[in-house]
Order: sequence, then C-alpha cells, then structure tokens
Amino acid sequence: MRYQGREMNVDGRVRLVMESALTARDRVGVQDFVLLENYNSEVAFIDNLRRRFRENLIYTYIGSVLVSVNPYKDLEIYSKAQMERYRGVSFYEISPHIYALSDNTYRAMRTERKDQCILISGESGAGKTEASKKILLYYTVTCPTGDHMAALGERLLQSNPVLEAFGNAKTLRNDNSSRFGKYMDVQFDFKGVPVGGHILNYLLEKSRVVHQNHGERNFHIFYQLLEGGDDDLLKSLELERNPQNYNYLVKGNCPRISSINDKNSWKTVMNALLVIGFVEEEVQNLMNIIGGILHLGNTQFGEGEEGETYVTNEDQILTLEKLFGVNSSALTEAVTHKKLTAKGEEMISPLNFEQTLSARDALAKSVYRRTFNWLVEKINQSLAQKDEIHHSRKDFSVIGVLDIYGFEVLQHNSFEQFCINYCNEKLQQLFIELTLQYEQEEYETEGIAWETVQYFDNKIICELIEEKHKGIISIMNEECLRPGETCDASFLEKMEDSIGGHPHFVTHKLANGKTRRVMSREEFRLLHYAGEVSYNVNGFLDKNNDLLSRSLKEVMCQSDNQILSHCFRRKEVNDQKRSETASTQFKNSLMKLMEILMSKEPSYVRCIKPNDSKQPGKFDEVLVRHQVKYLGLMENLRVRRAGFAYRRRFEAFLQRYKPLCPETWPNWNGCLSDGVSTLVEHLGYTPEEYKLGRSKIFIRFPKTLFTTEDALEAK
Ligand code: ADP
Ligand code: MG
Repeated sequence: MRYQGREMNVDGRVRLVMESALTARDRVGVQDFVLLENYNSEVAFIDNLRRRFRENLIYTYIGSVLVSVNPYKDLEIYSKAQMERYRGVSFYEISPHIYALSDNTYRAMRTERKDQCILISGESGAGKTEASKKILLYYTVTCPTGDHMAALGERLLQSNPVLEAFGNAKTLRNDNSSRFGKYMDVQFDFKGVPVGGHILNYLLEKSRVVHQNHGERNFHIFYQLLEGGDDDLLKSLELERNPQNYNYLVKGNCPRISSINDKNSWKTVMNALLVIGFVEEEVQNLMNIIGGILHLGNTQFGEGEEGETYVTNEDQILTLEKLFGVNSSALTEAVTHKKLTAKGEEMISPLNFEQTLSARDALAKSVYRRTFNWLVEKINQSLAQKDEIHHSRKDFSVIGVLDIYGFEVLQHNSFEQFCINYCNEKLQQLFIELTLQYEQEEYETEGIAWETVQYFDNKIICELIEEKHKGIISIMNEECLRPGETCDASFLEKMEDSIGGHPHFVTHKLANGKTRRVMSREEFRLLHYAGEVSYNVNGFLDKNNDLLSRSLKEVMCQSDNQILSHCFRRKEVNDQKRSETASTQFKNSLMKLMEILMSKEPSYVRCIKPNDSKQPGKFDEVLVRHQVKYLGLMENLRVRRAGFAYRRRFEAFLQRYKPLCPETWPNWNGCLSDGVSTLVEHLGYTPEEYKLGRSKIFIRFPKTLFTTEDALEAK
C-alpha cells in the first residue's frame, strides 16, 4: 500500500492519507455500479449487491448515489476512527460509506458555497432513519465547533430520541418505524461550524393513537411512560403500569417486544428533553396530555332510549378535567352532542353511539397531532441560531437531510398510502429533473456533446393527482365540500367521470385491459411509476375532511394546560372559514418541500431492505429486485452510463495514475489537460474511449478504468 502526502483543504490542514485505502475485501464485486460490465442487466446488478452484502459491504455507489443495504446487525464501521478515515478523502479512493457521502456533501457546501441536501429513500425498515442519524453524527463529531455553540451538536443529536418517542412505533415491518416524515436543516457558518438547525415534519400517522393493527403498537411514548415513569408521576396521572388496561394500547395485542426497552428509553427521552431545554412544568404538561389520551380512550358510553349517548364512567371524565385542564361537563357535552347553526340560531343535537365514539377518537388524534407539532416547534426554538438577528441569510450555508416514508403498498391501501405514494411520485419527479438536469449541465459546462436518454417521466402521474380542478385531490375536496350526504362511492364515481380516460387510472368499471388484476368495486388503482397500487375509497372523505367538531375545539381552547391552550387557538373556533382539507395541506407542504430541495444541490441515499424478517445475513432476492425496480436504480444507472461512465477532475486523475507514465512521474509540470492527454495516450486509450472537457476527463467504458486500475495495482 502506498502512502502519499496530500493537501486537505477542508480545514486548511495538511495530513497524510493512504493513497489506496481500499483493501482486497473492499473490492468484492464493484464498488460503483457504473463499473459493471453488463450495466443493463438487473441480474448482474443484484448479484453485485448480494456479493458485497455477504462480505458486510453494505454500501455501493451508482456514481454519486449511495445504495445501502440494511445489515440488521451492528457493523463496526461507524466509530470515530472510521470518521477520520473519510475526512477529506475523495469518493473513489476509499470504500463507499455514508460518511464519504456526508463528507463530500460538507466539502461541496464549503468549497462551492452552495446549500446541499441529502435525500434518503427506501421502504419501511430499509435503514433511512439510521442513515440520517449517522449523517448527523458525522457532522456533530467531525465539524469544528464554535465556543458558544458547543452544545448545539448535543441538542441536534438529542432531538432524535424525543421525536422517535413521540413519532415512532413498532410496526410489522420495523420495530422502530418513523410514522412521520422529517426534513432537517443543519446550518453552518462560514467557518463550517454547525450553528443551528430546523426541522419540518410531515403527515404524522395519527390514526395510530386510537387504533393499531395486529402485532403493532401505539407510539413508543405511551409504553415508555407506563414502564419508566416514577411512581409519583404515574400517581399524579392516575395511571397503572399495565398497558393492557388501556383501550388505546390493546388493539395490536403487542405490549412488549424484546428489541425495545421502554424503561431505558424513558430515561433517554427525559434526559434529551432536559438537554433540549424543556422545563419541568412543560414535561409535566406534556405527560398530562399523554396520560389524558389514555384516559380518554377508556371513557365508556351508553345508549339512551332515544338514541342519545351518555358517559358511563364519570370518573374518567373527572380525571380528564384535571389532565387536559378542561371543564368536565363541557367536555362530556361536546363529545356527545353537536352544535348546528341554522338560520343564525344555534341548535344542539345529540350524537348517536357511533358518532360519539368517533368524536372521542377524533379528539384523541387531534390532541396528539397538535402536541407533536408543538414538540417540533419547541425543538426548533432550541436549535435556532441564538444570534440569528445578527446573521444575514447569506452568512450561513445549509445541509438538509430528508428522511421520508418510501413507496408503500399494503394489503389494504387507504388515504395514508395515497398521500405517501403521492409524495414519492413528487420526489421521483425531483430526482428526474435534478439528475438529468445536472448531467446535462455538466456536459454543457465541460463542452461535451450530450446524448438524450429515454426515461419514464412521471410528471403525468403527479398531475393526475394534484392538478387544479381535475386532479384526484381536487375531486376529493369537491366531494368533501358538497353539501348534503356525500359518500366515498360518489367520490369514486366522480373520478370515473372526470379522469376515467387517464392511462394511469383504473377502476373496476374501467378495467378493460389496463390492468391484469381483479378489482373490487370500492377501489381505484393508480399505475404509479413504481408499480400498481389499489386504494380502497372507504374512509377517504372522512380522513380528508379531518374534522374536529367546533364544540370540541371550543372546549379545548379553554384548557389551562399551557401546551393545549397553545395548540387550540380561539381564532380557529371563531374563524367561520372552513379549514383546509388534509390532502390540500399535505399537497401544499410538499410543494414547499420541493421548493426547498430545488434550491439545493442534492445527494441521494437509496436504502434497501434485504429481507422481511429483520434478520442479519439474509438476502431475499425477490424482495430486493422489487426495490431495485421501484427505487429506479437501473434507470439511474442507465442515465449515468448513457454518456460517460466515469468522470474525474484533471488534477485528481493525474494524481492517481501518474505513476503509470514516465513523463508524468513523479510530477507533471505543464498544464493539467496536457498532462492527462500525455498520460492516457501512453496508456493507449482510443479516442472513443474518452473525452477531455474543460476541467475533467470523461471515460466512456468502465473496462478502460478497470484496466488502468489493474495496472496501478500491479505496479
Ligand atoms: P427506516 O427508517 O427506513 O424505516 P430504520 O432506519 O428505522 O428504517 O432501520 C430499521 C432497523 O434496521 C433499525 O432499527 C436497525 O435495527 C436496523 N438498521 C438499519 N440500518 C442499520 C445499519 N446501518 N447498521 C445496523 N443496523 C441497521
Ligand atoms: Mg424511519
């Protein structure tokens, strides 16, 4: 192995780096798919993934995209010493790693002074959240720290356990599944010191608060509180330790699991809240809400003779009075009745049993979601740059990290899957625009002719969903707004009428030939870029309406729990305007996200789940092939290979391969481009094998590079 002095320009230090930090083991398969001989073959692609996975080489590149396979075991590759290996070292000289990507992104931000973002995608359990945590860890450990901001890194890291306690849950696919999407900005000053952070959250799966599928749990925090909270706290919340006593925790029949230690997590979360700056009173208020939700779930109702509903366990409501800080009789009234305004007069009419239960659940979900948003807001206050007023916007650069749910196809797909998959369509669109655009721009700046690549542009599907007036979201909103009885079935009919002819939309009635599978009469199917998904329309309108009755809002905004009074504002009650539907809110937040991402230079991490049983060492080929397909990896590779497989700045290329030519060794004194010319002519490159741009050499075939690498190895 050769060692060579090399200049580091990140922090102005000069140090020694191993010239070839790659070992024989690192060379199992190819470390960049671009170097695959048979780049059109999915079989070869998966074979390469598998061979590397067997050797615990979970990372592989497609050009600058990092593909990662979840090892489901602790690999000793994330230590501080490992971080040091990757600092300031170029992609191709060292084995692929999430740290290499983090480091490259950081350097690009510093040298090009352009904001960056890292987009992490993959299905549930593929390792997205772990990847995002590794990135954050890398920055907090390796970046220089400012004197007064030393604690910021700690706060950035501690935001994770808090958000995970309230936003993650055990699902069938992942014991620690994020049930919300997260975009986090880390801000750096001109010296590269992290000085602030900001989090945006998306679409918390609040239905989990009141219902869990078999084998799944509610959000971690409920169990953590019951297991870890001290006796006094539990007494003040009138809670018992056994989760089986709470209706909202028994639906999945899965109170405990071996991979989760709720008691320890509780301690971690309490400590994290402290680090972030929550005061005791806030923690108490927060737990009052969490406990209150459990009591709310335990309120029971009876049916009166005239179909009206009444509460049968008054003591629960009295506990709620204390925990939610609201008036108990007003709360009872609001859960069991609705207010109507007819001809300017207010009337009160009783809700039936079913309606009461759904009003109660709506309250629980709404309280939880708003509390979660409040938490994020609090964390953001803690991460905000303290001297922000003195900073003009230009004083700092940003690296954003997006960890958001991947494409989802379940047995039964509903409104939530529709939103998630819509989000993935948008991200795919962004990927196409930015990747192709970037390739194109690079060829242009380098003065090299560009050949267009055929790819499927999913814009047509994005439009099908979001277009004004005739997109699915618009039709759904229209149905929600229509006075009188509306139902999911009429929503389906409306869609058939207005978008029935669309090539990516199918229903039972329209199914002639567009799809092979049998469809039920309650479904519509979208032909997503990643595959077909059938959505059952039942519940779509309710979920989109997302209504919490005005009476319940009224009660809640009088709460003297300070978090709740912050979450429920009087303004919202007084405002006669209808609040935006869930899908419109989601669409708008996605639009904003796209804008944020568009303004930055993207890097990608594509996560793959090797098996469905959370097992180490098991590589399920069918499962992997499916993900390779819908992550668009083959397409990605083709785009990358369409022009030139490999590109490298002149100085880097010369530096690496100059020992292979007597005229360039030990040093080339002329201009860089001539040096590269001399070198490749000596190596016998033919004109169709390579092109010289203004600052980079472009090599068309991987074989060329292999041969050159081998020559270097043999030397
Ligand atoms: P996602 O966010 O994509 O749903 P997670 O990041 O939560 O998935 O990963 C699921 C689980 O897989 C983690 O809890 C962890 O046990 C395991 N895992 C993921 N990435 C790694 C990794 N790089 N090394 C070891 N285990 C991992
Ligand atoms: Mg996750």
